[in-house]
Amino acid sequence: MNRRSAPNPAEFSDAVDASMPIAERLFSELEEKTADGVGVTRGSYGEGEQIAHDLLEEAATSLDLEIDKDPAGNLYMTLPGENREAPAWFVGSHLDSVYHGGNYDGAAGVIAGVTAQAALQRLGVTPQRDITVMGIRAEECSTWFVGHHGGHLGSRAVLGLLWPGEMESAIHVHTGRTLAQCMDEAGFDSSYFRESSRPYLGPDNVKGYFELHIEQGPVLHCKGFPVGIVTGIRGCLRARSARTTGFYTHSGAVPQEMRQDAVLGTAELVLDLERQCDSARANGRDMVFTAGKFFTDSDHHSIVKVPGSVDFAFDIRSQDRAVLEEMQDYVTRRAAEIGERRGIEIGLNEMSLVTPAVMDEGFCAHMRQGAELLDISYMDIPSGAGHDAADFHDVGIPAAMIFIRNDHGSHNPDEAMELEDFALGTRLLAWTLVMLDE
Ligand SMILES: [Zn+2]
Repeated sequence: MNRRSAPNPAEFSDAVDASMPIAERLFSELEEKTADGVGVTRGSYGEGEQIAHDLLEEAATSLDLEIDKDPAGNLYMTLPGENREAPAWFVGSHLDSVYHGGNYDGAAGVIAGVTAQAALQRLGVTPQRDITVMGIRAEECSTWFVGHHGGHLGSRAVLGLLWPGEMESAIHVHTGRTLAQCMDEAGFDSSYFRESSRPYLGPDNVKGYFELHIEQGPVLHCKGFPVGIVTGIRGCLRARSARTTGFYTHSGAVPQEMRQDAVLGTAELVLDLERQCDSARANGRDMVFTAGKFFTDSDHHSIVKVPGSVDFAFDIRSQDRAVLEEMQDYVTRRAAEIGERRGIEIGLNEMSLVTPAVMDEGFCAHMRQGAELLDISYMDIPSGAGHDAADFHDVGIPAAMIFIRNDHGSHNPDEAMELEDFALGTRLLAWTLVMLDE
């Protein structure tokens, strides 16, 4: 650091407040330029995402930050540190959005990073190592890409986490182009990820990863805390395309005990899973459960038919991998038992299990200390939704997240984050990045 001593907490707070006009301008330009009449649309590898990248690059250039891009099109904005060879602190989030999304989900994290960098410049701080803000591509790719893919395509590409063939099996929902074609047509280089065996990012160039994000649930808002320190990101057990097969028959003529009713069998399984979820929580374990798809075949269903088929999906999430593994065994066993007793077949097809990501306890403890010093009221909170931070964690890069209070959930135009809360989270971020090396 080129100052004699580290700034005190009040200096961090003042410098972030003085840099807030940068954030305010970016939020309003971003909203204006990616508005779609309902909310904002910044499709992965699409026009809105590119507009966001261009705006951030322009802002970073005017702050004299170093600009770089990787072969997947992720954007890097670096405040140089004293030791340029040391692995850097990374601050990242995504710049894409869902269709008709809100202005803050994703963008807030990147804008917080750049605002924190501007505050450090204002304080005359040269950090011990580089501080790089990363604008990540295609985090919302579940909206924009169908086919066989594992999500978070921008970060997973550069962390070396793409599955073999995923560049070709992820298909853009509107254009039908593969992920590789989308990358190349946007001016990047998908061949890097086929030809290079060395991941672009890893523990040798990233010392730790921080992500600020709006909370996507109501907890901070209801409990009255502006900031959350995220303890972990829930993993999930999913059956995306389960199908129960029974037997279509007359709804009046066939005795109840002789029916092979696909709806009742599937309902029994789903309610059974809800009871498991309730009892897990009663025992102090973390678990949430949703059956977000549940439908009969509209070509065959009728009010006067016993239903012969149901398509359904479920999503079980927990911070505890053991819970997900136990549920995988449980649901498999119960599907077989219910199917046998009712004379139906409950086919779960392929289930996928994504491991929960635990946030780095050292970083969390450091951030709690920062929040106390900066006089920011906070609570510890798990993240129910997935984030790029989990992918950094998965390759052995310690990761941490800051949540900002937000009303009305996310992925909709009614996201409501107060800029005062955002400024508090950004103060904590700036303090954390500098003081970790002090
Ligand atoms: Zn997000």
